[in-house]
Amino acid sequence: MNNYQELTKKQLSFFNSGKTKDVAFRIETLKKLRELVVRHEDDILKAVKADLNKPEIEAKRAEVGLVLSEIDFAVKNLAEWAAPKEVETPSTHAGAKSYIYQDPYGLALVIAPWNYPFQLAVSPVVGAIAAGNCVVLKPSELTPHTSSLLAKMFNENFPEEYLTVVEGEVETSTALLKENFDYIFFTGSTMVGKIVAEAAAKHLTPVTLELGGKSPTIVHEDANIEEAAKRIARGKFANAGQTCVAPDYILVQRNVKDELLANLKQVVTNTYGEDVSQNLDFPHVVSEKHFDRLNSFLTNGDIVFGGKTDRSRLFIEPTVLDNISWEDNVMQDEIFGPILPVIVYDEISEVIEAIVKRPKPLALYLFSEDEAVQDRILNSVSFGGGSINDTINHMTSHYLPFGGVGDSGMGAYHGKASFDTFSHAKSILKRSNK
Ligand code: NAD
Repeated sequence: MNNYQELTKKQLSFFNSGKTKDVAFRIETLKKLRELVVRHEDDILKAVKADLNKPEIEAKRAEVGLVLSEIDFAVKNLAEWAAPKEVETPSTHAGAKSYIYQDPYGLALVIAPWNYPFQLAVSPVVGAIAAGNCVVLKPSELTPHTSSLLAKMFNENFPEEYLTVVEGEVETSTALLKENFDYIFFTGSTMVGKIVAEAAAKHLTPVTLELGGKSPTIVHEDANIEEAAKRIARGKFANAGQTCVAPDYILVQRNVKDELLANLKQVVTNTYGEDVSQNLDFPHVVSEKHFDRLNSFLTNGDIVFGGKTDRSRLFIEPTVLDNISWEDNVMQDEIFGPILPVIVYDEISEVIEAIVKRPKPLALYLFSEDEAVQDRILNSVSFGGGSINDTINHMTSHYLPFGGVGDSGMGAYHGKASFDTFSHAKSILKRSNK
C-alpha cells in the first residue's frame, strides 16, 4: 500500500466514524481555521510576497480577506444549509412526505493553482469542511513559500485523517488522482483540467473544474470611458494580470478607441507611477517560462504604452497593444499576464460572432449603458459569469456562484454554492404505514 492509499484509507475510516457529519464539529473546525488564518496573516503576506511579489494591500484583500469572509459566511449560515428540507409531495404519493438531505460526499481532493496561492487553495477547503468532508489539499509547486506555509498551518493543527496538505509537483498530483476520492475540486488550466477529468472518470468521481480562458472586455461607444478605463485597468493589472477572470483582451467600438487608450494610459500612470519598472511593489510573473511566453507577445501589433521587461526579476510592464488581429499569437490562448491587446469593431454583431466561435470564456465584461446592447450580449453569448460596467468583482460576491462553462470549466462555488458543490442532495420519500 503506498502513502496515498494509506492516507485515503485513514480518511475514509475517519469519515465513516460520522464525526464530520456533526454540524457543530464543522463550525468548530471553521472557527479554528479562521483563527489560524488570522494568527498567520503576516506569514501569508510574506509568503505571497516571496512567491509573486504580491503587494501587502492586495494580498490582505484578495488572499486573506476573501478567505475570512467565506469562512464567516459559512459559519453564519451552515446550520440552515445543512438542515434537511421538506419539499412538496405529489398527490400520487398521498400520505408520504418528501425531504432533501445534504450529505457530504466523503473524501475531497482539492488541487490548487499558483496565482492566488492561498485563497484559491483555502476557499474550496472551506466549502468542503462546511459540507462535512475530509480533505486532501495539493497546493501549487510554483509558489513554494505559500505551499509550505499551507502544509505547516494544516498539518500542525488538524489530524491528517481529517484535513491534510500534500505538497508536490505534477507527479504528486498524478499519484493522488489515482486514489478513489469522492469529490475532486480542481483549479488550474484547461489542459490540466482535462487530465483531471479523465483521471476522475476512472472512479466515476464528480468534479468541479475551475479553469481559465480568454475573457473578452467589450467597450461600446456609449460607455463611460473614464470609468471603463479605471475598472478595466484595475481588473487587468492587479496581480500583474495573473487572475483567472482578468480581462484578457479589449473589443472597443472604433469611434471611442483613442479616448479609451488615452484613459488607460492615464490610469496606469496614476496607479503604478510614470515608470512602472521603478515600482518595486508591482507583482512579477510566476516563472521564467511564463515570462518568455509573455515577452514573445510584445512584438504583436503596436505598443501603445508599456513594453519594458526585466527577465532577471521576472518583470513585465503593464502594456497595451493596438492594431491586433484575431490571428496574432497573443489572441490564441489565455494571456495571464499584464499585456492587454485591443481589437476594434464597428457593429456589436461582429463582437458576438467572434466570441461565440471561440471557446466559452470564464468571464465577459461589457461597458455600455444601453440595455438593448446589454441584453443582446447576455442572451447570445455563453460564458462563466461576468459584469456589466465593471470587471472581476462578480467573483467576490457570496450570492453569485462562481465558475466556468465549456472550456472554462464546470461547477461553481463561493457562498452557499460551495456548500452545495461539496454536498450530495439525498432525496428521501417517507411513507407511513399508519
Ligand atoms: P495548472 O493547470 O498548470 O496547475 C494547477 C495545479 O495542477 C497545480 O497544483 C499543479 O501541480 C497541478 N498539475 C499541473 N500539471 C498536472 C498534471 N499533468 N496532472 C495533474 N496535476 C497537474 O494551472 P496553473 O498554471 O497553476 O494556473 C493557471 C491557470 O489556472 C490559468 O489557466 C487560470 O486561468 C486558471 N485559473 C482558474 C481559476 C478559476 O477559478 N477558474 C482560478 C485561478 C486560475
